[in-house]
Parts: sequence; structure tokens; C-alpha cells
Amino acid sequence: MKNKGLIFVISAPSGTGKTTVINQFLLNHKKDFVVSVSVTTRQPRKGEIDGKDYYFFTKDKFKEYVKTGKFLEYAPVLDNFYGTLKETVKKSVNAGKNVIMDIDVQGAMKIKFKIRDCVTIFLLPPSFSELARRLKNRRTDTPEAVVKRLALAKKELKERVKYDYIIVNKDLNKATENLEELFESIYKLERFKRNRP
Ligand code: ADP
Ligand code: 5GP
Repeated sequence: MKNKGLIFVISAPSGTGKTTVINQFLLNHKKDFVVSVSVTTRQPRKGEIDGKDYYFFTKDKFKEYVKTGKFLEYAPVLDNFYGTLKETVKKSVNAGKNVIMDIDVQGAMKIKFKIRDCVTIFLLPPSFSELARRLKNRRTDTPEAVVKRLALAKKELKERVKYDYIIVNKDLNKATENLEELFESIYKLERFKRNRP
């Protein structure tokens, strides 16, 4: 029988580079890893594709899915709701794929509570000023939204102590390499655990 995939939860303040690091990692690991596509009620950014970057739901449809118990976790982030569908994770894990979940701090703690053997990773920006620079340069948010995201970032950064591992995203290649090394080590450890009689 195929081994079930592992679950890796990655959080970071918006603008740190989660999407960039994960995408770079996936270039060489698409065979064994998938990123769980979340649902959001926020508007798509330029270039974002429904079903690939997010499932873009209306607030009513989101509420309906909450009511019918379709979410493994969901949380309000800034002025919108974000959530992970049970079905998305179940399908991949059962197919033996390792699942990377790019979710906020509230969601990460809910997953840790429900799935004890998941691995939580906090991606840290090199400094607050660099985070602000990245968020502004990305040009996907209005100046008001950037201010809100940075205010939230201050709170989120304090939560990093709750995570199993921390990786600093200063140099993109180095951060991706660190993520690769971490996944490889955990994978090896899990193999030993699962081989236990
Ligand atoms: P997140 O998914 O955490 O919100 P993104 O992946 O969208 O962040 O990255 C935010 C911005 O920072 C993007 O413009 C991206 O190109 C840039 N970026 C990501 N990682 C680095 C890095 N190591 N050094 C410099 N810029 C980076
Ligand atoms: P963004 O709007 O920049 O794509 O995401 C904003 C925040 O929502 C990020 O911190 C991201 O990790 C988080 N997020 C994305 N998907 C989910 C999800 O399914 N659940 C939770 N709880 N947070 C999510």
C-alpha cells in the first residue's frame, strides 16, 4: 500500500515571499509535493487564476461551505475569509503526495491541533523594513491595504515561537535550499517512525 503523504504548514506575514519560495521549491519537486489550493473571498490579483492560485468564492458561498462542514480550517484574515477544503487535502495525502499548506497563523494552529504529526514552518523576513519594501514593490495592494498588512505582520511575527521550524527568507536560493533540506530530513525521520513495529 502507498504511504500517505505528509502535511507541511508554512506561514509568514504577507509579502515575506512564501509563494515565491514554494514555487521555486516546486520546480524540482512536483512529483512528490502539491500545494493545497485554498478558498478565499478576496478579489483575484492580476494574473491569479481561479482553481490554481485560489478558489475565489463569494461570501455567501463561503458561508454555505462553512455550514455544511466542508472546511478543514478557515479563518478571517484582514477583511476576508480564507479556508482549506477537507477534500483538497484528503485527496492528495491519500494519493501519497506531500501537501504544503500556505496558511495564516490562526489556520496553522487549528491544523496543528487537528493533525498532530503535521510540520509547521514559519518563514521570516530578514527585517521589518525589507518586508515593507517587498510588499510595496509587489504592487498588488493599495497603499491602505499595505498599511493593514504591515500592522497584521507585527502581530504575526510574535507568533513564530509557536512553530516547529523557522527559515529566514533573505536570499531566495538559500531559503529554498533550507526548505529542501528540512523536508528531506523530516521525510527520512518519518520513514523510520513508520517502519516501527
Ligand atoms: P507572500 O506569498 O509571502 O505574500 P510573495 O511570494 O508574493 O510573498 O513575495 C512578495 C514579494 O517579495 C514579491 O515581489 C517577490 O518577488 C519578492 N521576494 C520574495 N522572496 C524574495 C527574496 N528572497 N528577496 C527579495 N525579494 C523577494
Ligand atoms: P493573500 O491575500 O496575500 O494571498 O493571503 C493572505 C493570508 O491568508 C496569508 O497569510 C496566507 O497564508 C493566508 N491564507 C491563505 N490561504 C489560507 C487558508 O486556506 N487558510 C488560512 N487560515 N489562511 C490562509
